[in-house]
Order: sequence, then C-alpha cells, then structure tokens
Amino acid sequence: MDQLKTREEILLRMVKSFTENEVAPFDSEIDQTRSYVNNLLEKVHDAGFYSLVTPEEYGGAGFDGRTSAKVLNILAKGNASIAVTLEGHYKSVEQIVKYGNDKLKAKYLPQSADRIIAFPMTEPTGGSNPMGINSHAEKHGDSWIINGDKIMITNGGLAEIYCAMVKTAPTELSFFVVDQDMDGFKFGKQEKFLGLTGCPIGEILMDNIEVDEYHLLGKVGMGPEIGNSAHDDARVLMGAVLTGIMEHQLDIVSEYATQRKAMDTPIIELQTIQRKVADMTIAKETTKLLYQQAAIMKDSGQDYEQEAAMAKAHGSRAAVKSGDDALQILGGYGYSLEYPVEHLIRDARAMELAEGSVEKMRTEIALIEAKSRV
Ligand SMILES: Cc1cc2nc3c(=O)[nH]c(=O)nc-3n(C[C@H](O)[C@H](O)[C@H](O)COP(=O)(O)OP(=O)(O)OC[C@H]3O[C@@H](n4cnc5c(N)ncnc54)[C@H](O)[C@@H]3O)c2cc1C
Repeated sequence: MDQLKTREEILLRMVKSFTENEVAPFDSEIDQTRSYVNNLLEKVHDAGFYSLVTPEEYGGAGFDGRTSAKVLNILAKGNASIAVTLEGHYKSVEQIVKYGNDKLKAKYLPQSADRIIAFPMTEPTGGSNPMGINSHAEKHGDSWIINGDKIMITNGGLAEIYCAMVKTAPTELSFFVVDQDMDGFKFGKQEKFLGLTGCPIGEILMDNIEVDEYHLLGKVGMGPEIGNSAHDDARVLMGAVLTGIMEHQLDIVSEYATQRKAMDTPIIELQTIQRKVADMTIAKETTKLLYQQAAIMKDSGQDYEQEAAMAKAHGSRAAVKSGDDALQILGGYGYSLEYPVEHLIRDARAMELAEGSVEKMRTEIALIEAKSRV
C-alpha cells in the first residue's frame, strides 16, 4: 500500500513539473496554432504517459482510475487539449483491456505505449442515437469486412488504431479494432472545432477493411454495453480535465484581481468580485469531488455510471460559467484573444457534447436515480 502510494506520488510530482515546464508555457500557442508546438506530443510519449493505464503485464504502468484522473487534472491546468488527447487514448485502452480477447490484447496493448488508440462511434446519421449509424460489418468465413465512415473522432488523424462501432445486423451494434495500416483504411477531413484546438478531431473512412474474428471487441451485439463503458471511463477523466480548467481560471483570476485596482483598492476586496471568485471555487471543488468519487467507485469495483455522468454534466456547465466569471473579472482584457481566459471557455464547452451530450447524460442520471428509489 505504502509502495503504491509512493509510486503515485512520484508520478504526480513528475507530471506537475512536466506541466509547468513543457505544457503551461505553450498553452496559448497551442490554442492559436491548433497544434502541439514545442514537440509536446513526442515529449508526452517519451515521458511514458501513453502507457499509464495499460496493465503491467502488457508493458504499461498499470495505474488505477484515481491516478490517471489526477494526472489528467494536472496536465489540464497547463493545457486542456493534451489532457483530452490522453483521455481519448486511455478510455480506448481500457475498453481493449475489458473486452479484448487474449490475442487482441497481446497484439494491441503493448503498442499502446507508442500508438494512440481512438474510439469512433459518431456518424453524420448517428450521434446521440447510435442505432442511426450506417457503418457495418459482414462476416465472410473467419473474417469480417467493414465499411463506413466515422466523424468527429477525438484524435482522429493522430491515432493509429481505432475501436469502431458498426452494425453487424440492422439492430445490432458491435465494435471492431481497425488499424491505419490496413488495406481500405483512409483518413477524412479534420474538424475546425471552437475549442480544444490542439487536439485533432477528424474522420476515418473504412472501405472493405478485412479483419480476423479476434478483432471483435467482446461478442457480437455488445456494442451498447461497450459504448456505455467507454463513456463512463471517459467521463471520469473529463471531470478531472474540467477541474483542471477551473483551477487554471482561478490562477489567472487570483493574480489579476489581487493586482488590479479600482481607485486604490485591489478588486479582490470588492464584494462583487469576491462573489464571482467564490462561485468559481465552489464550481471547481464540486466537480473535483464528483470525479474523485466516481474514480474511487470505479477502482473499488462499484457501479460508477451515475457519478461519472454527474462529474461531466455538472463540471462542463460549471467550467463554462466559471470561465464567463473569469472573463468578467478581467474586464476588457478577459475579452481579448491575447489573454487565455476566452479559450478556456471554448475548451470547457466541448465537454457538454463530447462523450455524450449533457441532455442525454441527464436522462441517464435521472433514470438511475429513479430506479434506485422505487
Ligand atoms: C470535442 C468533441 C470530441 C468528440 N469525440 C468523439 C469521439 O472520440 N468519438 C465519437 O464517436 N464521437 C465524438 N464526438 C461526437 C459526439 O459524441 C457527438 O457530437 C454527440 O454524441 C452528439 O451527437 P450529434 O453531434 O450527432 O448531435 P445529435 O445527436 O444530433 O443531438 C442534437 C441535439 O439534440 C439533443 N438530443 C439528441 N437526442 C437526445 C435524446 N435522446 N435526449 C435528449 N436530447 C437529445 C442533443 O443533446 C443535442 O443537443 C465528439 C464531439 C466533440 C464536440
């Protein structure tokens, strides 16, 4: 137990120093250039962050849900895009761990240290409604032939391996692992999204990709279960990222409001400003408690679906509102593209959509709550 704690502490200290030196100084440049400047991705890779949640038997570090969430929380304080790039990868790795057969795990989990894995479900005809998708797989002997296009994929274009949701019958959803090196695999366009601009979001095109049976995740028809499981894991991590965004906002606001004066008084002495900083602090702390609670429940084998959904549903709106308060505290400077506050609002806003819209999550939260009480 003590040894575990020490290992976690060493990791978190290293992530903090990495964030302060390699991530935070480049936050605005990453946002404005829409790319991971200063070789950030290579540095993230070389620091071993890709394989943080990959089990040790497959060459990874095997850290638990609480630790991986804390890592992304720290990184997100420096730049939310890089934290979301790792979030997309970690939740994909976790689904291969949970649902991959031995052969699939032996093939892809060791590769997760060097190659990013993504999780495409959405298509032009199916986002919130997965049954609306058109991608499909047909069985031919011992293989499956996969066709269809996927859009809005976190790390789409950057990731090299994809866990793709397709139909295996008109009302049956399944997942297959495909690789960019396979015949018939192509990248489509990149999205021009408002926020998280460092993180590529793009399309893949699957044209008669042939995979062996072992590329199926779980069993045929397990798509809804696997999709929900990926959402749960991603939402815990997104709660951590959103907490990091709010911590970043609070750092900026605290420094500004302490130095900026109205007449001779620092504006932090004004009750109107204090009210906003207090609301921002409460928003940050409630999101932190929710994601940490979800992570603890996940690590101890309890059902964490509702807690994960609450962390993201609450945290995403809280971070947008907190960003708006931060903008107001900085006055005209807050509205300037030269200050980092506005992009933190755009970054947080993405998480009201990605990994399930907040509307759909509220349905899940409500149904779980009602079911637990009748
Ligand atoms: C930054 C970012 C990253 C993303 N990454 C990925 C990824 O890695 N993989 C992936 O597969 N997708 C990804 N997406 C896509 C995302 O999952 C979808 O945008 C989301 O599921 C909503 O689907 P949609 O855009 O088709 O909207 P629609 O489903 O058309 O929804 C439109 C509106 O109707 C509401 N609505 C729809 N159905 C219901 C319902 N049943 N109950 C209540 N309200 C409803 C929605 O909440 C929304 O407000 C990403 C999106 C973003 C913004």
